[in-house]
Amino acid sequence: MNTTHTLTKILGIIGGGQLGMMLTEAAKQMPEHITGVIVLDPNENCPAAQVGAKQILGNFNDKNSIVELSLQSDLITYEIESGDTEVLQSIKEDITINPSPKTLGIIQDKYVQKKFLRENGIPVTDFITISSIDELKQRIDSFGYPALLKQRRDAYDGRGNFRIENLAHITEGYSKFVGRDIMLEKYVDFHCEISVIAARNTEGEIAAYPAVENIHEENILRMTIAPARINKQVSEEADQIAKRVMGAFHGAGVFGIEMFVTKDEKVLVNEIAPRVHNSGHHTLQSSTTSQFEQHLRAILGLKLGKTDLLHRTVMCNILGPKDLNGKCKSVNIIQDDHVYVKWYQKKEIKPMRKMGHFNVVDVNDNMDIQHLISKANEINNSITFNMNQ
Ligand code: ATP
Ligand code: MG
Repeated sequence: MNTTHTLTKILGIIGGGQLGMMLTEAAKQMPEHITGVIVLDPNENCPAAQVGAKQILGNFNDKNSIVELSLQSDLITYEIESGDTEVLQSIKEDITINPSPKTLGIIQDKYVQKKFLRENGIPVTDFITISSIDELKQRIDSFGYPALLKQRRDAYDGRGNFRIENLAHITEGYSKFVGRDIMLEKYVDFHCEISVIAARNTEGEIAAYPAVENIHEENILRMTIAPARINKQVSEEADQIAKRVMGAFHGAGVFGIEMFVTKDEKVLVNEIAPRVHNSGHHTLQSSTTSQFEQHLRAILGLKLGKTDLLHRTVMCNILGPKDLNGKCKSVNIIQDDHVYVKWYQKKEIKPMRKMGHFNVVDVNDNMDIQHLISKANEINNSITFNMNQ
């Protein structure tokens, strides 16, 4: 640990992908508070390292690497939620970790997370834990079809979810999860998916950005529309729920709170990411304080920044095309006023891999949301990649 108790700090981040990269860039804008960033990441020359973070090459769950990170840092945060909570607990006496390993532990298990939310009065869909196929057969009737079987841990991009359509589908679904803890969830026939990026600082101050709308393709986020196309009452409801979530979890930092808006305009929380979130990338241009700066302010105990949306913005992920694999140098994208491209400098392109994103910003406040969406789609459809021969 850096033992000079000055006001400036060395920040350690578990994970050095695109989120770590944008956190590093935000940290560089705050030299009066953060003098250096070190990331732990298994991929050599990871995105964060390419923008000036020092890198410890190692796995996210490798105890020695995490201890090494803690020795070189003054505080630790993460950009992935799969950190080993036991290892983090064991070093937390020596260094501040935010959000806390306890919060991370609750969130890592989808069942424990939903139970925690329900116990704290946060609206969620019905769910139960499942320990045998007989139990699944018995209980599914009360949920109706379709229902979702979910892997409780280590799931991402929808890969741990199976949609059970009918009775005959149960055995196939159950067999996908042999040896894993699972839960059953009532299907939400939603009108749209939204998220709220919210922050809580170490002093307990809470702030939330306006709700945004998320469009997925094969369970991967394709587009975020800021603000969400929902009425004022629904967006206020989402804001209130997000603030209650932040109050329930005592951790500090930015959290991405994913929600459903049902057809009868109720808001239900789907799940929470205890970190900066893909659906918050629009804040780089749409807001005074980006989610990355906000996260740093939160964990440093600084007053939180402003969260109002200054300009309508549509964020589009640049995803690897379905038939493209290999080494990639750069991207060709239409250069246009008010289009801001962020390329993550990943060397390898893979189908549906997040290679970068761009924001289409209504800087002059004279475009409607539909126009921004069309413009984003047009740009996205014309993207090509320069591959290494
Ligand atoms: P990610 O890493 O993309 O956030 P994940 O693997 O953690 O995803 P979830 O967020 O639980 O999984 O689910 C992925 C998607 O599946 C959701 O964004 C939503 O579209 C759909 N989904 C999840 N739960 C439900 C549900 N109960 N009813 C209807 N759709 C659901
Ligand atoms: Mg999700």
